[in-house]
Amino acid sequence: MTAHQGARERILLSPPDVGRREEDMVVEAVRSGWIAPLGPMVDAFEQAMAERCGRRHAVALSSGTAALHLALLQAGAGPGTVVVVPTMTFAATANAVAYTGAEPFFVDCEEATGNLDPELLEQALKQLDAEGATVAAVIPVDLLGRCADYGRLLPICERFGVAVVSDAAESLGSTCAGRPAGSFGAMAALSFNGNKVMTTSGGGMLLTDDAATAERVRYLSTQARQPAVHYEHTEIGYNYRLSNVLAALGLAQLERLDEMIGRRRALRAAYADVFGGTSGVRVFQRPGDEGDNCWLTAVVVDPTEAGWDADDLRAALDRADIESRPLWKPMHQQPVFARARSLVLGAADHLFANGLTLPSGSALTADQVNTVLATLSAFIEAR
Ligand SMILES: *Cc1c(COP(=O)(O)O)cnc(C)c1O
Repeated sequence: MTAHQGARERILLSPPDVGRREEDMVVEAVRSGWIAPLGPMVDAFEQAMAERCGRRHAVALSSGTAALHLALLQAGAGPGTVVVVPTMTFAATANAVAYTGAEPFFVDCEEATGNLDPELLEQALKQLDAEGATVAAVIPVDLLGRCADYGRLLPICERFGVAVVSDAAESLGSTCAGRPAGSFGAMAALSFNGNKVMTTSGGGMLLTDDAATAERVRYLSTQARQPAVHYEHTEIGYNYRLSNVLAALGLAQLERLDEMIGRRRALRAAYADVFGGTSGVRVFQRPGDEGDNCWLTAVVVDPTEAGWDADDLRAALDRADIESRPLWKPMHQQPVFARARSLVLGAADHLFANGLTLPSGSALTADQVNTVLATLSAFIEAR
């Protein structure tokens, strides 16, 4: 955070929000002697998070990516299978597919929300079905905290007999039709990376209602160790468990989750005010965001109507030492996935070209918020 040595600290997009309570809990975990992965705070963290997300079981893991990886293995993803991934996502979603040896197939999003387009998903599943492909899973992503359209996606996946692994890395605390994010699909993955709504510095969780799935994921995450005194192994496992010290951080953060989401929500409202009278700019995902955790607030600019583009705004913010960033570069545009198949019509490309995420963190001070809002106002007025 102090990498920049200017008179004023750079205002970041979504820095961690930790304080005294987190410090106390971590110290308590260290003093308890439970330093290794596993321990009472991991158990308590899993239980609290399962409850919060309306799930029977939760397995704490070292990252959200690890949760996706193990969920996909459990769904049967591997060489010779296909996994459908929205092209508008962070690379972790597609990387987890690659780890299993399955083929990622990218599908475009709806422009209003940036989430997986149900009609295109259906089209893709039909195409894959016709060619006799084995589709191991579909991974809807809850982009920037907005739940994917599960009401439409789940019945489609069910009709094709395909498992749903929900990537809820960005949506902890959000609700969709009264149900919590993380409660959708056979399995869901959470992330507690440093930039998410709450953090364990690094960590993740797999959520499911199926006891056998939870047990198997727990086993795979601890080097697939058989219950024998001499460490017997019959298959390849992973070292993916969360440490007890980090679970302590997570428990403290979870106590403050709603308060932190409230701050992000207030920031979004302030951005909506600032851009209210500006033609050619919309606050992304603003309509219908009542249940969203508002992880990141973005604007989408129509350069013809606005007379400026998202990069002009990014440059102006950067000059004021304020961080902003385009939306995720779509996976079908990424060099590493250049050979992957996709069904895209341009929605994700449009959002990438014209969207910009603004400082959205709950740790932003009132002074920092005022600086950002004043910089935005000045930019708009100068145009
Ligand atoms: C952050 C994120 C992940 C990965 O989580 P890590 O804990 O950083 O491994 C996966 N998917 C999405 C959409 C994310 O934003």
